[in-house]
Amino acid sequence: MLNPFAITGPAIISFSGGRTSAYMLHEIIQAHEGRLPDDVQVAFANTGKEREETLRFVYECGVRWGVNIHWLEWRDAKPCFEEVGFNSASRDGEPFEALIKKKQRLPNWRERWCTGFLKVKVLTAFAASLGWNPGEYAEVIGLRYDEGMRIFRGLENAEKDGRKVLYPLSRAKVVKQQVMAFWSAQDFGLQLEPWEGNCDLCFNKGRDIRKRIIADHPASAKWWHEQEVEQNGFFDRRDRVADLAREVRENPDLLDPPIDEEEFDTECGLSCGYTPEAAE
Ligand code: SF4
Repeated sequence: MLNPFAITGPAIISFSGGRTSAYMLHEIIQAHEGRLPDDVQVAFANTGKEREETLRFVYECGVRWGVNIHWLEWRDAKPCFEEVGFNSASRDGEPFEALIKKKQRLPNWRERWCTGFLKVKVLTAFAASLGWNPGEYAEVIGLRYDEGMRIFRGLENAEKDGRKVLYPLSRAKVVKQQVMAFWSAQDFGLQLEPWEGNCDLCFNKGRDIRKRIIADHPASAKWWHEQEVEQNGFFDRRDRVADLAREVRENPDLLDPPIDEEEFDTECGLSCGYTPEAAE
């Protein structure tokens, strides 16, 4: 078998800022003897609600491994993205908030257009800026061999949408233990708990996880609560963010431990329940 990490361009490596996709990036760089071909680009789509630790980790991977990572953010403009950097990246939800204002409502588990706009459309527009049309280039996604269903769903969605996707970690049969072993041997890493990745209080995280995050980082509730007030709506039909924060204040000792520790170590948009219609 050819080395699954020897990616043939044109291709965009989608770097989520999680441990798994960082490991994939590392292996791809190694497979190319330390330097990616010009037609293999790396992109990180920042929603503005990523944790500071994620931004630092993305920056550090780029610097330590000598690879140019394009930091992209959604804009309500043509093209629909702007390239930023570690210093200029949004840190207070600005792209996400601008999108909510444009849509005049909140995304939720049924209407997950935040992913479609803030991640998928941004990467597609970035590819278009390089002269690459969907189907003519590969999206390289960090899903492991042990994330089977996500891979099937991702392939199905990509096929429907005429996109080409590659899962080198899965082809190389890499499982979670290998990724964790890799990071234990490094002298730097992502300083987050596994459930803290992607947007900090993403409504796709279970209520116990969101409560745990609010307990550990009380300031994280503010932005989400403000969006709910401003739009007179809710991200999760079961709870308002203010209610979760109140529960945490009233019963700080009754927090259940997070259930699925690896769920948020993956790109939210390119692997699981996203459907292209949701981004219309
Ligand atoms: S992490 Fe959650 S809130 Fe953020 S873009 Fe993805 S689905 Fe939306």
